[in-house]
Amino acid sequence: MRFAVFGNPIAHSLSPLIHEHFASQVGLNLTYERILVDRPFATMVTDFFEAGGNGCNVTVPCKLEAFALATRLSDNAQAAGAVNTLKRDDDGSISGFNTDGPGLVRDLQRLHLLKDKARVLILGAGGAAQGIVRPLLEAGVAHITMVNRQVTKAANIAAHFPSKVEAQSYQSLNESLAAKLSHDHQAVSFDLIINATSSSLLHVLPPIEALIVQQAGAVYDLMYTPQGETIFTRFARDLGVGKTADGIGMLIAQAALSFEIWTGKRPDIAKTIAYLQAYLQERH
Ligand code: NDP
Repeated sequence: MRFAVFGNPIAHSLSPLIHEHFASQVGLNLTYERILVDRPFATMVTDFFEAGGNGCNVTVPCKLEAFALATRLSDNAQAAGAVNTLKRDDDGSISGFNTDGPGLVRDLQRLHLLKDKARVLILGAGGAAQGIVRPLLEAGVAHITMVNRQVTKAANIAAHFPSKVEAQSYQSLNESLAAKLSHDHQAVSFDLIINATSSSLLHVLPPIEALIVQQAGAVYDLMYTPQGETIFTRFARDLGVGKTADGIGMLIAQAALSFEIWTGKRPDIAKTIAYLQAYLQERH
C-alpha cells in the first residue's frame, strides 16, 4: 500500500516514521513518503492517486484545498472546514476526513484528562481550535469558553454551537474570572485548559492570567517537544497544576485514526508514543 503526506514545508514531518511504526505493529507492508507541494495541490494529489496511492495526509498550508478537493466529507471534516486525511475509494472518488479533533479526544481519554460534563477553556481560534470543538462536545464536554486575540474568529466558531460554546476576549476573561477567583481560591473554574494557539511554537505565553491557569484541573498544549513539556505546560506545572501534557499523543492519535481509515487496522498508540519520544530525545 502506498501513502504520503503533502505540505510545504514537509521535510520536518514525522508522519512517515509514525506510519511505518504502525505498519510494523500490525504486520502491514507499506510505503509512506513526504511530498513537498510546489505545484497546484489538486494536481499533485490526483497524480498521486492515479499512480496507485491509497491515501494521504495533508498538512499546512493545504488543509483547505484538501477540503475543496474531496468528493465526500466526514462530519468532522465538515465541522472543521478542513481536511487532514484523504482516501481513494474503490470507485476512484476521494473521501476527506479530519482526524485532528478526534485524535485530541482519544489522547485526552488515554490520559484521563476528560471528565464527563467538563468545562473547557480553549485558547486560540485558528485551524486546530476550530477542528477540536465538535469532537470535544461529542465526547461529553458540557461547555467550552474560547478566547482569542482576534475575538471575531472565536465568535464565528462559537456561532455554530449556540449555548455550548462562548467566545471571549482575553481581557474580558481575565477581568471576570480573576476577580471571581480572588474571592474563592478553591474554585476550579475550568476542568481543562487547552492551548490551541501557536504561542508555544514562538516560545511565548498566551496573555491569560496566571490565576486562571493555576485553578485549572488540567492543562494540555497542542504543541509537542522532545522533553514532553512546552513553555505553557511548564508555566502551569510551576503554578501547581498537577496534570499537564503536550500534544505528542494527539499527533500520534490523529495519525492512528488516519491509519485506521485507510487500512481498517488499529495500532497501539502508547507504543508509538514511546518510540517517537525516544527518537525525538535522541535527535535533540
Ligand atoms: P493557526 O495559525 O491556524 O492559528 C494560530 C492561533 O494561535 C490563532 O488563534 C492565533 O491568534 C493564536 N496565536 C498565535 N500567537 C499567539 C500569541 N502569542 N498569543 C496568543 N495567541 C496566539 O494555527 P493552528 O491552529 O493550525 O495550530 C495551532 C497550534 O496547534 C500549533 O502550535 C500547532 O503546532 C498545533 N497543532 C498540533 C497538532 C498535534 O497533532 N499535536 C495538530 C494541529 C495543530 P489570532 O487569531 O488572534 O492571531
